[in-house]
Amino acid sequence: MSTPKPEQIIMTTGRNSENKIYFREQFGHFQSIRRNLSIVLLAIFVLLPFVRYQSQAAINIDVAAQTIRLFALTLYPQDLFVLVIVFILAAFVLFYVSRLYGRVWCGYTCPQTIWMLLFNWVERRVEGNFQQSKALDKSGLTWQKIAKKSVKHSIWLLLALLTASTFMSYFVPAEVLYPNLFNFNDYFLTQNWLLFFTACTYVNAGWIKEKMCLHMCPYARFQSALVDNTSKLVSYNQARGESRGQRKRNATKPNHLGDCVDCKLCVEVCPVGIDIRQGLQYSCINCGLCIDACDAVMDKFNYAKGLISYSSITKPASRWRQHLTYGFVTAVMILILIFWMASRSEFEADISRDRNALYRVNYLDEVENTYKIKLLNKSQQPKQFVISLQANDNFALKHQGEITLAGGQSDIQILVVKSNSLVGTQQIAFQITDVNKQESEIIYSQFHSPEL
Ligand code: SF4
Ligand code: SF4
Repeated sequence: MSTPKPEQIIMTTGRNSENKIYFREQFGHFQSIRRNLSIVLLAIFVLLPFVRYQSQAAINIDVAAQTIRLFALTLYPQDLFVLVIVFILAAFVLFYVSRLYGRVWCGYTCPQTIWMLLFNWVERRVEGNFQQSKALDKSGLTWQKIAKKSVKHSIWLLLALLTASTFMSYFVPAEVLYPNLFNFNDYFLTQNWLLFFTACTYVNAGWIKEKMCLHMCPYARFQSALVDNTSKLVSYNQARGESRGQRKRNATKPNHLGDCVDCKLCVEVCPVGIDIRQGLQYSCINCGLCIDACDAVMDKFNYAKGLISYSSITKPASRWRQHLTYGFVTAVMILILIFWMASRSEFEADISRDRNALYRVNYLDEVENTYKIKLLNKSQQPKQFVISLQANDNFALKHQGEITLAGGQSDIQILVVKSNSLVGTQQIAFQITDVNKQESEIIYSQFHSPEL
């Protein structure tokens, strides 16, 4: 087998410092936006499972019961439609933002980037700057290296465990998960999932890192189809920067050189390891780190900032039509969601006939049919239901149909309908009334009796 070229390698299994991207830490305008945003998003992710609503977890995904609780709303598999609308809406907004600003989702809000930069922050604190980190990887085994690596990986594992337990607390309420974290008898399955997500976070943020964005993320693959000449992407002003060349800080700029001082800082800070001066590249996650780095350099040389900036190839004449169209479609989807919420029934009823007997005749010569009624209370409060027959003198319920169900509970009731009319098969209408909300649903079935 021939040796693959470097650009053909997706991942290597061995510890190879040549394939690892060591990126310099950078501070600046865009990085403070990204950091503050990351802190807010992390705080939401960590604190949300602790929010209580009516003495229960406000947000909970119960896999066993197949429900998703969102404050006062409980979604069942029958409500999947609304999740489809929410996902379409989220994808639509993402596509629109990508069209305007490229992969800003990747650079500023994607969990992969946030955790990758968090793990990198830990690495910098433990191993020193990116050059010291690289030198440490290349050096032989020493006690100092063992100590530093042990500390770094222990912190990474702890962060991964915290991430996994926070993630799991969306499925198992925090007040149950945390006290039972070491209860190996009753929570063995939960602990296995916890270990799985810990391993995923550790490997993903600590080892795979930018390779996820470059080779595995599907969004990275199709995002180039979303941007056009008017999208604001991180780009290098070639006309201003070239010819690049090094020079002294306070010296007069040589005539044959552009503004790029060829310090390579923009390359050193790039988390995906590219040189933006080579033109737009699909792997750029639009994080703005190179802009902050270059602006700092421009400042030192007393040149104008913005050699690297968010810019578009052509300026759009006017975007108001675009904004209006996207805004209109988004508003329509939000209205569909509001309409769905307002018109959603808080119960689900299903009626099926007893399949064992078409009918039977009792000792009063009345014909009886048996029905199985399945009722689900989709609300979070107890509800009382009354089952009756829609006004029809031919039929009567043998027993009064009343059911009380706790929030989220379902039950099956057997109802017997009797009739004196012997005219073969007739349509029968059941009325199920939610007593609390005075809402009714009519369900049709068939009543069988012998022909005269
Ligand atoms: S080229 Fe600049 S914006 Fe793109 S990923 Fe690298 S640092 Fe971020
Ligand atoms: S940081 Fe700016 S000046 Fe330095 S190499 Fe990059 S583009 Fe040139």
